[in-house]
Amino acid sequence: MARKRQSQGSCMYCGKEMSKGGISRHLKSCSARQDAMADAAGDKEQALYHLQVQDAERGDYWLHLEMSGNATLQQLDKYLRAIWLECCGHLSTFFIGGAWSGMEVAMNRQIDRVFDMTDVLDHIYDFGASSETKIKYVGKRKGVPLTKHPIALMARNVIPAAPCQECGQPAAWLCTQCIYEHDMSGFLCDEHGQAHPHDDYGGVMVYVNSPRVGMCGYAGPAEPPY
Ligand SMILES: [Zn+2]
Ligand SMILES: [Zn+2]
Ligand SMILES: [Zn+2]
Ligand SMILES: [Zn+2]
Repeated sequence: MARKRQSQGSCMYCGKEMSKGGISRHLKSCSARQDAMADAAGDKEQALYHLQVQDAERGDYWLHLEMSGNATLQQLDKYLRAIWLECCGHLSTFFIGGAWSGMEVAMNRQIDRVFDMTDVLDHIYDFGASSETKIKYVGKRKGVPLTKHPIALMARNVIPAAPCQECGQPAAWLCTQCIYEHDMSGFLCDEHGQAHPHDDYGGVMVYVNSPRVGMCGYAGPAEPPY
């Protein structure tokens, strides 16, 4: 049996692509990141948290974030909505001790307080067609943030390869009607996407790098807000 190829992603500092498992180690030694840290040296040091964020289902969608300890869950929620989740302004909640069953954590709680209590945080966006996200504590350092924002995107998965349901070429489009009514993958290459006949669900949508692709009214763009 063919082994599943490990999810790939890239470092935002040097652009290097590597496997999901190698990223944490790479970020510690990445020379482009080291240079940025040296440039940012100054007296405004604070605790900076390295967080690994991934979709709870398969883990093919993931982010490595560096977040200021004094930033809040609200800011993390905003970031997740912007890069991955937002479709129609659904409710979202963070949990300690498991999604759904764990303890809800207030949005105004600071990151340093949260990760004093736990190493893993769960996030649910939309309690109907829910998207679940796991946030794991990787480590922290004392230093000057490399961005003026509360969060720095350090690494991100490359969009998972998905074969067109018609011809096997890499997908560029997604048809939710095929998924929900015809039990097919819904993935379509550029050519088959353009010519696809279904439009009961608003037609084909762009296949974007988000775990919410194809769910509810989600239509991307799956770009980082900063
Ligand atoms: Zn790098
Ligand atoms: Zn929605
Ligand atoms: Zn279709
Ligand atoms: Zn095709």
